Amino acid sequence: MKQIFTYGNYLKDKFGAKVYKVGINISGFTCPNIDGTVAKGGCTFCENDSFSASTDEVQELKGFHLNLNSKENPFLEKQLLQLTQQFEAISARQKREYGAQKFLVYFQSFTNTYAPFETLKALYEKALSFPDVVGLSIGTRSDSITDETLEYLAELNKTKEIWVEFGIQSVYDETLERINRGHDSTNVREWILKSKKAGLHVCGHLIFGLPNESQEMMLETSKQAYEWGIDSVKYHPLYVVKRTALANEFTRGEFTPINEGEYLEVLVKSIEMKPSNVSVQRVTAGIDDDSLLAPQWCRDKNQQIKNINKALKKIGLKY
Ligand code: SF4
Repeated sequence: MKQIFTYGNYLKDKFGAKVYKVGINISGFTCPNIDGTVAKGGCTFCENDSFSASTDEVQELKGFHLNLNSKENPFLEKQLLQLTQQFEAISARQKREYGAQKFLVYFQSFTNTYAPFETLKALYEKALSFPDVVGLSIGTRSDSITDETLEYLAELNKTKEIWVEFGIQSVYDETLERINRGHDSTNVREWILKSKKAGLHVCGHLIFGLPNESQEMMLETSKQAYEWGIDSVKYHPLYVVKRTALANEFTRGEFTPINEGEYLEVLVKSIEMKPSNVSVQRVTAGIDDDSLLAPQWCRDKNQQIKNINKALKKIGLKY
C-alpha cells in the first residue's frame, strides 16, 4: 500500500521534526456572513458554538466584534493574552501526549483576516514569537482578506511558514447561494491565485454532499481547486448540526445528507485525481455529541477512518 502524501508528511519532510498545528480561537473575531456585512445568519451549516476552543476566557469580549473597518480595538491586550494562554496550554499538551517538537499557530475559528490590519499584525507577530513556532496557518474567507494583509503575510513568509486556508466548498455559484455563502466562486479563485502569486502556501477546504450536487459536480470542484494551485486540501462531508438553517431544511425534508458509500466513492475519486504534491490535511469530519442531527455515520471518527482506508486499499493507497 502506498501512503497518501499527508500534511504531517509534508511538515516532517520540511522541518525534520514533529510539527503540530495549535488551533486558536480569538474572541472578538466574527465573520462578514454572520455580522450582516455580506449576509446574515452565516452559511446554512454553520453553528458557531461547534467551533473547538472555548470563547469564554476573556469574558469582557462577549458581544464585541471586529470587522475590516473597526476604528479601534480596546481589547487587543486581552486578545493577546488569550492567544498566549491558549498556545501555552495546547502546545504543552501536544508535547506531552504526542511528542510535538515544533508548532504552527492555527487561527481557526471564524474569519481570521476580518479585523483591522494593526490587530492582525499584533496577533500574528505575537504568535510567531512563541517558542518553537515555525509559522502560521490562517483560516479565512476569500472576501475578507485585503491586499495589505496579503502583502504583509508574503513578507512574513520569507522567514516563516505562512499558510492561508480558504473555504472553497463548491465551484458552483448556485450551490454557494443555496448555502448562503455570501461570495461566489470567482472571488475564491481570484484570492487563491493572488495568494499563490504572493508565494503563500494555500490550503483549500472542500465539502462533499452539498445540496443538489451530483458526484460529477463535486469532482469538478476538486479538479478546479487543484488547477488553481492549492498546496494542501481538507475534504469534509456535509453533516447537519442542530440549531442551524440546514437543520431546519433537513427536518422539513428539503435536504438529504450524503450517505457514507457515496462519500467514500467521491473521496477516493478526488484523491485519485489529486496532483501528488498536494498534501492531504483531512479526509473527513464529524462530531460525536448531541449537536449532530445527521448523518449518523459522521459520529464515529475512528470507524470513518477505517472505512476510508478500506476504500482506499482498493486503489492501493492508505491514509
Ligand atoms: S464563513 Fe465560516 S464562520 Fe462564516 S458563516 Fe460560513 S462557516 Fe460560519
